[in-house]
Amino acid sequence: MEALGFIGLGRMGRAMAQNLVAAGFPVRVWNRTPGKAPPGAVEKRSAREVAQECRIVITMLADDAAVESVARELLESLPKGGVHLGMSTISVALSRKLAQDHTARGQRYVAAPVFGRPEAAQAKQLWIVAGGEWQDLKPIFDALGQGIHPVPQPEQANLVKLCGNFLIASVIESFGEALALAEKGGIDPQQLMGFFGSTMFNAPVIKNYGNRIAATEFEPAGFAMPLGLKDIRLVLTAGEELRAPLPLAGLIRDHFLAALARGRDNWDWGGLASAIREAAGLPPTRTSANAAPR
Ligand code: NAP
Repeated sequence: MEALGFIGLGRMGRAMAQNLVAAGFPVRVWNRTPGKAPPGAVEKRSAREVAQECRIVITMLADDAAVESVARELLESLPKGGVHLGMSTISVALSRKLAQDHTARGQRYVAAPVFGRPEAAQAKQLWIVAGGEWQDLKPIFDALGQGIHPVPQPEQANLVKLCGNFLIASVIESFGEALALAEKGGIDPQQLMGFFGSTMFNAPVIKNYGNRIAATEFEPAGFAMPLGLKDIRLVLTAGEELRAPLPLAGLIRDHFLAALARGRDNWDWGGLASAIREAAGLPPTRTSANAAPR
């Protein structure tokens, strides 16, 4: 099997690289902080070194700045016909630029952002949104996920990912509000989620986040709060570029800011609900001391 490069071994990337090794791909990795290579992967000293040895290089990095800095090395070092497979959640504008820049060098950019938290990455259960010419990369996707949603252009894959994350953040916002209201009225939020989650709100995202919010379980982070803020800002930027007003996204951004202003950088993005709780006069999380609803 062809060697694959993998750059970015954070919460998501390390599990994904591990699954590529398990699928039998020889995997060469680089991460800014060394020493995070999964067993069986070969650690390289730079992104450049990875691109010199592999025709296909996957990036799974935090944000636009990280992807841009690594992409500079890939653009210089990938061979003609080389492929940069970008799986991070980045802006629509950067995705468009990467597609143009790689094409200008006779290379190919494929955007394939993913839905699913680190547990889903470990279990090969990601949903992959693939934009661009991705068909020959299907064996890679099969090793990482449970399904592919194709769109024509790389930048459209990033737009779909941002729409999805906006919807998830909206679920966090609305269930944060509803469950705070219920708790103030003396209703046990966990029992209420048991009812909602098994009846009219029986959807994976709603149950996952609704149950976390009801239990006020915001640590450890699977998807950290600063990355949540990053994504809602990317949603707002896309809305500005495409002239699509997103009033709810603005409200959610401010709730992220309110939670981060209180130093909750290491909380999961579901912890956005803590800011809603506080506005309602509730403690940010319920502890055994304050667990009983009023
Ligand atoms: P993470 O745990 O914070 O990992 C971020 C990775 O980016 C690390 O490898 C980090 O290196 C690297 N990095 C950050 N800044 C860098 C820079 N300036 N130069 C080079 N490398 C840099 O994040 P994650 O949760 O794995 O998320 C990765 C991407 O997937 C993000 O775009 C995120 O939005 C997206 N995503 C996350 C989830 C989730 O549930 N976590 C789900 C779907 C999509 P170090 O190890 O040196 O810090």
